[in-house]
Amino acid sequence: MNTPHTIAHYINGQHYAGTGGDTGLVYNPATGQTQAQVRYATADEVHLAITAAAAAFPAWSATPPLKRARIMFQFKALLEQNMNALARAITLEHGKTINDARGEIIRGIEVVEFACGIPHLLKGEFSDQVGAGIDTHSVRQALGVVAGITPFNFPVMVPLWMIPMALATGNTFVLKPSERTPSASLMIADLLAQAGLPAGVFNVVQGDKLVVDTLLHDSRIQAISFVGSTPVAEYIYTTATAQGKRVQALGGAKNHLVVMPDADLAQAADALIGAGFGSAGERCMAITVAVAVGGVGASLVAQLAEKTRAIRINQGLDEHADMGPLVTSQHHAKVKSYVDTGVAEGATLVVDGRDFKLAGHEAGFFMGPCLFDQVTPAMKIYQAEIFGPVLCVMHVADFTAALKLVNDHEYGNGVAIFTRDGNTAREFGRHVQVGMVGVNVPIPVPIAFHSFGGWKRSLFGDHHVYGAEGVRFYSRLKTITTRWPNTQIATEFVMPTM
Ligand code: NAD
Repeated sequence: MNTPHTIAHYINGQHYAGTGGDTGLVYNPATGQTQAQVRYATADEVHLAITAAAAAFPAWSATPPLKRARIMFQFKALLEQNMNALARAITLEHGKTINDARGEIIRGIEVVEFACGIPHLLKGEFSDQVGAGIDTHSVRQALGVVAGITPFNFPVMVPLWMIPMALATGNTFVLKPSERTPSASLMIADLLAQAGLPAGVFNVVQGDKLVVDTLLHDSRIQAISFVGSTPVAEYIYTTATAQGKRVQALGGAKNHLVVMPDADLAQAADALIGAGFGSAGERCMAITVAVAVGGVGASLVAQLAEKTRAIRINQGLDEHADMGPLVTSQHHAKVKSYVDTGVAEGATLVVDGRDFKLAGHEAGFFMGPCLFDQVTPAMKIYQAEIFGPVLCVMHVADFTAALKLVNDHEYGNGVAIFTRDGNTAREFGRHVQVGMVGVNVPIPVPIAFHSFGGWKRSLFGDHHVYGAEGVRFYSRLKTITTRWPNTQIATEFVMPTM
């Protein structure tokens, strides 16, 4: 058997093989085979990356924003030119379809495009003559070295929620990508270098908890952006804020789609299938619960069952596949056990994808889509984030009950309502306790010039990611009050008033 190639780090403008530390295995989920090993950084190697980022900070933060923006323009062009190679790397490690992988890259590029406008976004405020001969102006300055810790499910898009915003505002960066999908991080590092980014401004360290903990406890790291599961998000938020760091930690989700009796049922069913089973349900904005209001449940379930059975499952490089495999065999086993639990809890399993095997890929981590009906709030399959191709249907009497159901859930990442009634949609938007809301839009991921983030246990911290929130998160406000006196100034012992 061939020795698998090793994926390692990128420090101070160089690929860095690493000297020791543990290694992990990276699989091709479609074949079930190991395709690489990833070397985990030691604490010393993490310190090396932070030292490189700290050394690069003074020059990078003093670089005019216009020049930083020009590097972002180059980076955008390079991402576009290398789209297919990046998409292939995502598909081979994550398993999602190649079209879906291209989609995530395009959504990431949108953030780079937004960051190209950084000179305008960093423009401060100026107040003339706040007192006699006194002016005040405010500026936003970079924080220093910041770190990003990212999940397996968007190896390009989620890092790009952070990197362009952090770099364009003048910070230097250490990325700790998911150990399950590590390759894209090094491709991003190469493209940033080709775009003209100076050495040390962007660094990558691979690994798991040890690397994360080293970042959380290093006093040189000023801010942490995290995206991943809720228990880890909460741990990162509490640990890093206790160290005095600024933190945005985005967690897990359980997203509902409310189908009102006046909705176009066929449209709602199509939306549910795409949003529930796209990327095999491994999306934080996947819709996992359909809430059928009034009498629409039976007809909705019939349509969903038919469409679920028609989903084309294949290895992700197939251009016509709707859905690929799950990321690892462990994750496959976990998702399957949730479905077993749902059956044991008494939910009706209308479509059972548990035993699906793809011919020619029997060792791959494939699972067919599963559709549950008659799910209730007390069931574990309703409460937990399953993160797989499992869609639950619940039935409620009216709008008030649907709203209460959504608001009572511990997560509040995304939600959607399908209706033809403007007032219903407006009331829903105003009263739902969720960060991102879609009206006849199943996956309301905000465009880059808005910002992305959930409520409740889907986000720890005050700032959403990218957009204006990203500029605020990665910069600190400074307010300067100025006087240029041309006469002697009297000593003042009282609180100055203008
Ligand atoms: P995860 O929480 O297991 O891992 C995320 C990152 O944290 C990885 O880099 C991992 O190495 C690290 N990590 C894992 N365990 C750790 C620990 N004990 N201590 C310190 N670091 C640790 O998440 P995942 O399985 O990679 O990704 C799926 C999860 O991410 C889902 O819950 C999904 O909802 C969530 N997610 C959320 C969003 C969002 O925007 N809210 C977006 C994408 C994914």
